[in-house]
Amino acid sequence: MNRTRIAPSPTGIAHIGTAWLSLFNLALARQCGGQFVLRIEDTDRARFVPEAEAKIYEGLKWLGIDYDEGGTKGGPYAPYHQSKRLDLYKKYAQELINKGVAYYCFATKEELEQMRRDQIARGELPRYDGRWRDADPRVVAEKLAAGEPYVIRLKVPKGETIAWTDLIRDKVEFKSDLIDDQVLLKADGYPTYHLAVVVDDHLMKITHVLRGEEWISSTPKHLLLYQAFGWTPPIFAHMPLIRNQDHSKMSKRKNDVSILSYREKGYLPEALINFVALLGWSHPQGKDVFSLDEFLKVMDLSRVQKTGPVFDLEKLNWYNGYYIRDLVAKKGMDELAKKLLGGNFVPEGFPIAKMNEILPLVYERLVTLADFSELTDFFWQDFTPNRTLLLKKADVETVKQQLSLTKAFLEPIGWIKEEIERTIRQLTEDKNYKKSQYFMMLRVAVTGKKATPPLFETMAVLDKETVLRRLTLAEKVLGE
Ligand code: GLU
Repeated sequence: MNRTRIAPSPTGIAHIGTAWLSLFNLALARQCGGQFVLRIEDTDRARFVPEAEAKIYEGLKWLGIDYDEGGTKGGPYAPYHQSKRLDLYKKYAQELINKGVAYYCFATKEELEQMRRDQIARGELPRYDGRWRDADPRVVAEKLAAGEPYVIRLKVPKGETIAWTDLIRDKVEFKSDLIDDQVLLKADGYPTYHLAVVVDDHLMKITHVLRGEEWISSTPKHLLLYQAFGWTPPIFAHMPLIRNQDHSKMSKRKNDVSILSYREKGYLPEALINFVALLGWSHPQGKDVFSLDEFLKVMDLSRVQKTGPVFDLEKLNWYNGYYIRDLVAKKGMDELAKKLLGGNFVPEGFPIAKMNEILPLVYERLVTLADFSELTDFFWQDFTPNRTLLLKKADVETVKQQLSLTKAFLEPIGWIKEEIERTIRQLTEDKNYKKSQYFMMLRVAVTGKKATPPLFETMAVLDKETVLRRLTLAEKVLGE
């Protein structure tokens, strides 16, 4: 039975990459009735952000990504916060000392900096030179007794090749000679990532470590630790790096990588899930559209590519438009209205009573829920139409006359779409207006925009008084 985990560090936002990796880890666990664990790696106190953890929970919950243990749920291997497991790491670091596979290092910060400068000056690659690796035990005992600060380092064996079969990358190898004697326990008693992750993955009985490619060079260090403890390592799989459009590593600077900001921008969780699932992976039947449930059933790591997938916002936008229309098709317009209202995408002042009439006219053009505001503002807010647009392909006198006749024709009629349409068509025929010019002018006068929902429906939803007022406003703009 597989046990997998996601181990985010609460250092800021809830990252899209966390959602992405969670999906694959969840699938790997669920496919065989195993468990997916959420562990909080909060030992880096310098980068710790208090609200970050709550955001991770909120982001995953919004996306519908569930987990079995850890997080806010607890479980048999609690605590699931590394900051609450400090004694354990100390104990295990001590165990490695006792076994002779780790050692105390008393090198000071200044000493290490000097070492680095000297190595660079000699044209060497900077690294720890192992000065405490084989230190005299009496000197070590004295320093310990004197209470001098120390770190604990792993005695990385010399001349070994560390290899594993990665579920995504096949055989991967690293030479141990290129690996520094890693710090396992820091001077403040906190573990490094390497010690904590290995101890926790082991104690939490994690069978598969599926994580991002940026950790691949850490894996040989972890394997050395498993070996030092005498533990069986989990199976490793490294997902490719997600990239920006320009193929650089996806970063906060170039892309929005916060899960919750996609919610704020009006993306639907279904769209984000579908899009993210296809980052570096393809559906066995070549499908583009599928649900989270379906993904969890058909995910197969052999379909993960090794090259970094590109985070293509256009594609995400396509998915979002698709899922908005899908929502309407499956659950009706009211559901969409509820989402808009619930997510605060309906601006203050919007005539809610007219939602039923307005939403059907615009929903097909929504890319995100946030577009609602801009697509509907003219339904309830007056504006000053653009003079140049009003005068497109016609002179002032012609347009003025068109506006005044339009008002005169519309004034007496009953205000339903069919009547409006019949009347306007009558006018254009009577006066032999050039349709493209006249309709563009009318659209701009009535809505302020060049592209809108069908004009007659739109006019019907706007009441007669508003349409006539706007035609007058357009006349004024021309008269100025
Ligand atoms: N805490 C690490 C992170 O933030 C976890 C890496 C791992 O999965 O081993 O990504």
